[in-house]
Amino acid sequence: MASGINREVRMKGLALSKGCIIGKVCMFNENRHSNLPIYRVEGKGIEREISRVDRAIELAAGILDKIRLKVASEIGKSESEIFVAQKMILADEVVHAGIKNYISHQNANAETAVARILDGYEARLAALDDEYIRARATDIGEVKRRLLDVLGNMNPSMQCDKKHCVEESPRVIVAAELTPSLTVDVDRDRTLAFVTERGGVNSHAAILARALGIPAVSGLKDIRDLIGCGAEIIVDGNTGEVILWPEDDTIRKKGVDTGIIMPPEPINPVPGFKVMANMNLASDMRESLRMKAEGIGLYRTEFEVMAAERFFSEDELYERYRAVVDAMAGQVVVFRLFDMGSDKSMPFMELPDEDNPSLGWRGARLLLGRRDILETQARALARVSAGGLVHVMYPMIVDANQFLEIKKVFAEAVAGIPCGDIQHGIMFEVPSACLQARELYKHIDFASIGTNDLTQYLFAVDRDNDKVSYDYNPDRPVFWNLIADIACAAREAGKPLSVCGEIAGYPEYIPQLVAAGINAVSVSPRRIPDVRKSMIKK
Ligand code: PEP
Ligand code: MG
Repeated sequence: MASGINREVRMKGLALSKGCIIGKVCMFNENRHSNLPIYRVEGKGIEREISRVDRAIELAAGILDKIRLKVASEIGKSESEIFVAQKMILADEVVHAGIKNYISHQNANAETAVARILDGYEARLAALDDEYIRARATDIGEVKRRLLDVLGNMNPSMQCDKKHCVEESPRVIVAAELTPSLTVDVDRDRTLAFVTERGGVNSHAAILARALGIPAVSGLKDIRDLIGCGAEIIVDGNTGEVILWPEDDTIRKKGVDTGIIMPPEPINPVPGFKVMANMNLASDMRESLRMKAEGIGLYRTEFEVMAAERFFSEDELYERYRAVVDAMAGQVVVFRLFDMGSDKSMPFMELPDEDNPSLGWRGARLLLGRRDILETQARALARVSAGGLVHVMYPMIVDANQFLEIKKVFAEAVAGIPCGDIQHGIMFEVPSACLQARELYKHIDFASIGTNDLTQYLFAVDRDNDKVSYDYNPDRPVFWNLIADIACAAREAGKPLSVCGEIAGYPEYIPQLVAAGINAVSVSPRRIPDVRKSMIKK
């Protein structure tokens, strides 16, 4: 219900994590360190404060280990690595020496020294131009808060003391900044969304929020001065819009526009139209199963690498992929090989700067240039295939020769490994491949149409550029003719085809896809019920 006293207020922030939700606000109680004890120490007092710091570091490291294990089991191994980075800061000798020197030279107590030294590091990183490094400043702030919590024996719980928030009702957490510990400390089932004043798209916390499937919007300066606990709020993580005290009409309209104002209830599969799930992180598996996905039609394996900021060993990949195949219990799992480069940037890889990265070293081209990466992933998948059917999908394929070349590298990499059934397929997302679908279907076992990139390359319009978004529009005959042509080639070859781009998740496009000859799609897990409903209505 809309509030009686307050008029609706609309704000626009940075969309960090998708989903649209309505709920009541809980102001995260983060002023717990605003009244730190400050006192002067001398002689034995200095030693006592230094040993308090040593003990706090030890305890904080133990807490971080526990959080890391919790995140690894509930979200995913790669996401848990965020806490390894924080532990490294805690273990840093330079940081220790800085804090201890401050205590002995400034005669300061432990709390003052921890706050001063870590604030200094945080401020220096936060002032740098590089967005990626700025996001790392948050880790330093996190370590500081954790140490201060331990020193003050405080409970780092985010629970505030307002009646609404301590009740068992789900809530929207509003905070100055979305820190990783705030994100993982929350009770997932009671957290509807995060709204913050600061925090970038690449911050670890944003990555975690996305992995948890919790909508998040940041960059709303001063929002904490405008509202308080219990206020009603709509958070649209798709557009970055946040509406305070929404009117009833707004609530209705948003619900219709987004279709996902509350997590949807699953509905059963519809015969004749297969709806699979797109999976970005291991944690999407839970939601895919809950939504009764008929398989994983696109596992974007590169997302986990982006989240962990490192590549995984063959054994790590094997365990991860094996768990997904086991969980899907015989249903299709399509592993798209790492689709890196351009919009999927991997800062830790130090890829060469390019003038035109979306036409540069990316997708299959990059895999062929970095065979070591391709070979490790291939071997892990080959081992998984021994226990269940594996579909391997190659990204950004340009023509049949390139497909045959990359498939050969895969085959050479897995020679000698006892394999089961491996199906080799491609993404139809580069126009040149789409235009020779018949030729490609002679060689491939299956395919999926990536309409996100296909729209970008067909109409020469950047998929991430707001300025030209009006032109990023598949509603043109040439697009649908191409889809129909690929579907026809698939039928002639008697081999599977699906659509895994975003449009497949929008019910309004389903009739057009069906008319073009598509009978299988792969969409975000929470879109599955709406897509199925649109088929039932037909
Ligand atoms: C696509 O391009 O449509 C696709 C599904 O892949 P991605 O969005 O990961 O590029
Ligand atoms: Mg793509």
